[in-house]
Amino acid sequence: MPSIDLHCHSLYSDGTQSPQQLVEQALNAGLSHLALTDHDTVLGLAEAHQAAQGTTLQIINGVEISAIWQQQLVHIIALHIDPQHPLLVAGLAEQAQARGKRGQLIAQKLAYLGIEDCWPAVLALAGGDENRVGRAHFAQYLVNIGRVNSQQRAFDKYLGAGKPASVAMPWTDMLTALSWIKAAGGIAVLAHPARYGLSQTKLRALLVDFKSAGGQAMEVSTANEKVNIIQNLATLAQRFELYASQGSDYHGTNMPWPKLGR
Ligand code: AMP
Ligand code: MN
Ligand code: MN
Ligand code: MN
Repeated sequence: MPSIDLHCHSLYSDGTQSPQQLVEQALNAGLSHLALTDHDTVLGLAEAHQAAQGTTLQIINGVEISAIWQQQLVHIIALHIDPQHPLLVAGLAEQAQARGKRGQLIAQKLAYLGIEDCWPAVLALAGGDENRVGRAHFAQYLVNIGRVNSQQRAFDKYLGAGKPASVAMPWTDMLTALSWIKAAGGIAVLAHPARYGLSQTKLRALLVDFKSAGGQAMEVSTANEKVNIIQNLATLAQRFELYASQGSDYHGTNMPWPKLGR
């Protein structure tokens, strides 16, 4: 049984658990290694290390960076980074600020659609920090007020790319994200490659660019991906000579992702 999980989220981004709770769950699940990989922030890492001190669990410093490749949003997981490296810290700070601004724009768009004054409640779901606000917080809010019956539905109807409350983001481009990761001494992992809706040809083109810019790994066994997809990703990882990573993408109890360690 695998005993490592290299992808999960805490309430420092759009997870519902504190880093301390994640450490407890990881220990209960029998994990030896856990990478905390919040969206565009390393702020939860110190708490994770503190909680894991004196236990058998090893915390790996991680972050999941939102980036653009050929107008396509991709997620790059960075593992084993120095979370204090100035280039990485500055880059992530810009991404986080853009998140805060986008949140308010999404709230405006929802208001036009008749969902008024959602910002205070959404902000509260993000712990009161606008720079942590993700689309998942809006999705949770829309479920909470009974507007939709699942987060998936909230993305399909309002928040997904091209939907009425979607707001384009000035995420960094993939090559710049890879340069931050390299500077911070990390390993770059292409997150959930099958979740971008790319054709096999386009996915191969992404892997060519990712690898030639210094990317070293890709997620193969990821979240609740089906076996045939995982097999395809494994074949691609071998073909492109990328390390195969595994991670649950756990976000917490009320989110549609698998359990920590799965
Ligand atoms: P953001 O980084 O704020 O644009 O939000 C991206 C996050 O939204 C992802 O990491 C997921 O947690 C969540 N998400 C994206 N698509 C969906 C979906 N179809 N259903 C549920 N959650 C989603
Ligand atoms: Mn997320
Ligand atoms: Mn992701
Ligand atoms: Mn993730």
